[in-house]
Amino acid sequence: MALIVQKFGGTSVGSIERIRAVAERVQTRHRAGNGVVVVVSAMSGETDRLLQMAKAISSQPNPRELDALLSTGEQVTIALLGMALHSVGQEAISFTGAQVPIETDSAHTKARIERIEGGRIRQALETGKVVIVAGFQGITAEGDITTLGRGGSDTTAVALAAALGADECEIYTDVDGIYTTDPRVEPRARRLDRITFEEMLEMASLGAKVLQTRSVEFAMNYHVPVRVLSSFAEGPGTLVTNEENAMEAPRVSGIAFSRNEAKITVVAVPDRPGIAHAILGPISAANINVDVILQNVSEEGKTDFTFTVERNDFGRAMAILGDVARHLGAQDVLGDTEIVKVSAVGVGMRSHAGIAATMFEALARENINIQMISTSEIKISVVIAEKYLELAVRTLHRAFGLEQGAST
Ligand code: ADP
Ligand code: ASP
Ligand code: MG
Repeated sequence: MALIVQKFGGTSVGSIERIRAVAERVQTRHRAGNGVVVVVSAMSGETDRLLQMAKAISSQPNPRELDALLSTGEQVTIALLGMALHSVGQEAISFTGAQVPIETDSAHTKARIERIEGGRIRQALETGKVVIVAGFQGITAEGDITTLGRGGSDTTAVALAAALGADECEIYTDVDGIYTTDPRVEPRARRLDRITFEEMLEMASLGAKVLQTRSVEFAMNYHVPVRVLSSFAEGPGTLVTNEENAMEAPRVSGIAFSRNEAKITVVAVPDRPGIAHAILGPISAANINVDVILQNVSEEGKTDFTFTVERNDFGRAMAILGDVARHLGAQDVLGDTEIVKVSAVGVGMRSHAGIAATMFEALARENINIQMISTSEIKISVVIAEKYLELAVRTLHRAFGLEQGAST
């Protein structure tokens, strides 16, 4: 008997009708002789609605209470799916993260899974039940409810598949696989039959929200085959798997982008040892991630120090830097929240030169100004003004021959 973990995202459980459709799909799989563990997200829009209510009460809601609130979305869908399965005569039992339990650290709103106790799930599977688990949530050793960061149900599913030794983890969503870029931005994007863990990890961490980054890390580390599929249409989807032959890989496999970016410049700080630490130390102490960093050439012993943070951390970062800048004798602190990061990703970059040149030339032709650049072995990212996002994504998608029908 194969054990399958199936995860259904927010749109897939977005209405009672859709929850019934999920129940049918799950039952068919179970009747075919498989053990089935189902992970569900909150109904689409629900997590945002809860978040808005919290923000209406406080601009910085207490993280522990916020997690208690946000986790309710998934508690609703597991119970409803349980009822839907019962109503078609399928035995099933639902568990919250705490009931499994899925143990996490105590970093509220971005907790990491530390351990999954699979005993209760295995017992239920042995008695022929479908097991339904709430995505996106866990519990600390102290018994507090945590959430895993936006998109965290993907991670719940892959972590469960790893812990239970499942044969495959299927991620059902509102697109029929992983595309060369977000098909909502570039309708000519092409579905990939396969993508390597490494590329998907890079795409996810650069903003492609089709899979949460942590879920790809889990899949890679525990060798869980992951398939991304549509919950509305039949099709092979995209298999996320090990690298095969990188020499044959296209130079660029995909274009990712992130709107969750903000840029901060500390203007005219003294150019001396310790400045980067003086500026970024307090930022990282506040648990704010710094991404692209740019330090300009010094003029008369002064330099501008620029870096990006997630847009939702921008307010906190600016507040911290006010004090730091005064202390350092900087001239000013400038912030810009209307920037985005667009990246080209591909393991084939390792064996091809000239990718950066192609990228910069294509953007220049469209008169898109590059504000910052960052590269790694398999990606090149540029920071640009937000108003150019769509144009930049389509331009790069075309420049690297990624459209449907193009030969790569
Ligand atoms: P779910 O609620 O099922 O978890 P998400 O909204 O989190 O769904 O993720 C699916 C969405 O990811 C798609 O609707 C699509 O707009 C977006 N997306 C971004 N980049 C890609 C990509 N490269 N391939 C496919 N989808 C992508
Ligand atoms: N409901 C959560 C979110 O909207 C988790 C998820 O859908 O994966 O981010
Ligand atoms: Mg998602």
